[in-house]
Amino acid sequence: MVKPCLLEYTREALVDLMAELGHKPFRAAQLQEWVWKHRTTDFEQMSNLPPALRAQLAERFSLRPLSVVEVSNSSTGGTRKFLSRMADGGHLVESVIIPAAEGKGGSRSDRITLCVSSQVGCAFGCKFCASGLLGLTRNLSASEILGQILAAEEISGTRVDNLVFMGMGEPLANIDNLLSALTLIMSPEGLNIGARHITISTSGNVPGLRRLAEFGKPLRLAVSLHGASDEVRSQVMPVNRKWPLGQLLPALEEWNRTGKHKITFEYILIEGVNAMLPEAAKLARISRRLNAKVNLIPYNTVEGLPWVRPSESHCRAFAKALSSAGIPVTMRYEKGHDINAACGQLRLKREGQGEG
Ligand code: SF4
Repeated sequence: MVKPCLLEYTREALVDLMAELGHKPFRAAQLQEWVWKHRTTDFEQMSNLPPALRAQLAERFSLRPLSVVEVSNSSTGGTRKFLSRMADGGHLVESVIIPAAEGKGGSRSDRITLCVSSQVGCAFGCKFCASGLLGLTRNLSASEILGQILAAEEISGTRVDNLVFMGMGEPLANIDNLLSALTLIMSPEGLNIGARHITISTSGNVPGLRRLAEFGKPLRLAVSLHGASDEVRSQVMPVNRKWPLGQLLPALEEWNRTGKHKITFEYILIEGVNAMLPEAAKLARISRRLNAKVNLIPYNTVEGLPWVRPSESHCRAFAKALSSAGIPVTMRYEKGHDINAACGQLRLKREGQGEG
């Protein structure tokens, strides 16, 4: 049987656990220091805990919910992708370590961003995405979300100080575990990463958006739009049939009333689907209504999928149409293209080889 992992225990939960195991409440703070400050992976190293408590903990709990089975280095930009196997018998998830951009004067910061997965697979089936091809296997626990961050730090030898929930899965479809993980990510007793360094990316899960707004933290929000009308968006994102723009846009307006950051619309440019110039005009109208900025991403070819990337000049014309309409716009090319850093691809390849 797989032991529950202690990573997802808040201070309050650890105090309850100490009571259950017959120990004083102050042991909870000591234990949490070993888990988060020292990043300890072995109960025996917890030298200020009584041996009896260490033995009780080791018998019932683990300190890591996953093990890294593969690390791929990109030949450019320092991006590294890793694949982790969950302790419960083999599910694979992937995470991407992205180094900070080069600073002014050529100095290189040692800060890293981690692209985190929130589910094994995904039920939402966006047409451009490898993660959706295999469907949803299960939600990740809060410990499994947190475990990716600790694994990234062990691989890179650097503290993660920026998180983007843009890996496998729809984070807002796993909202309970996401909120539990975020609580420890932001806590000074946990990872102590500020809300403004955390981006939640959603395909437009309206009930999840409302829960996240109620959580009340100034997180950054990225919304995968990929279509500025229901007709186009439903072609690319089947989730639009469940929560069409008529529901999504009011939910985002509500988010704007509580959040502190501008929403970012992610918009993958796909030849002949959503990259025509009249679509840019519709996208500009929606962006103005939501006071959002737009991140354009020329489509990243995925093996086995039919979409095509528009020409460079076409992508530039689309961007110009938005900026001429007064919308802040950036163009992003996926980092680590050569290691299949688009979400889901590394896992898909491995499972396709029968290793999953
Ligand atoms: S883009 Fe996100 S929501 Fe859509 S299928 Fe991929 S992982 Fe799921």
